[in-house]
Amino acid sequence: MNRDSFDVPLGALRAQGHELRVVRRGKLERDLVVDVDCRVPEGAEAVADVVLRSFEGGITVTGVVSSTWLGECRRCLRSLEGEVVAPAKEIFRRGAQPDEGVYSMDVDQLNLREMVLDSLFGALPVLPLCRDGCLGICPVCGEDRNVSSCRCEEPMADPRWSVLDSLREEGG
Ligand SMILES: [Zn+2]
Ligand SMILES: [Zn+2]
Repeated sequence: MNRDSFDVPLGALRAQGHELRVVRRGKLERDLVVDVDCRVPEGAEAVADVVLRSFEGGITVTGVVSSTWLGECRRCLRSLEGEVVAPAKEIFRRGAQPDEGVYSMDVDQLNLREMVLDSLFGALPVLPLCRDGCLGICPVCGEDRNVSSCRCEEPMADPRWSVLDSLREEGG
C-alpha cells in the first residue's frame, strides 16, 4: 500500500488516550483552482496542523491547514503570491458515505488529504487584489495606473454611437 504524507495511523492516538496533535506536510498532486485568477499550484506544499479527538463512533479533527497561492491582481494583472490559512473542523467516521458530510476513515488510520484540499479550496481569495486601492489598468492605452497616470479621456465614446452620429449627419 502506498503511504501518503497525509496518512495518520491511529495507534498513537489510542496509546495517547483520546487526544493527539498531528502535523502533516505534503505536496498537492494537482492544481487547486478557485478561479483563473487564483490557485494553489500543483507541487505546492500544504501543512495540516490539527488535533485529533476520538469520540464514540469517530474522530474530530480541528486545527488549521495552510499553503501558498499564486494568482494575479483582478485589476492590474500583476502576479501575486500569498499564504492561505484555513480553519478546519471536521469529523471522520468509519464507513461514512459521501453524502454524509463527514470524511471516512479506516479502522487503524485516516487520511487528511481530502480535508486539506477542501479546506484550502474554501479559503482561497476569489477576487485577489494586489492592494485594496489598486487603480488597475487603463482600458484605453493599457497603462498601469499604479505606475503612472495617462491622459486618456474616459469614458471613451462608444463606436456604435459614432455610426449613428454619421448616419444622422448624412440624413440631416
Ligand atoms: Zn493591482
Ligand atoms: Zn490611458
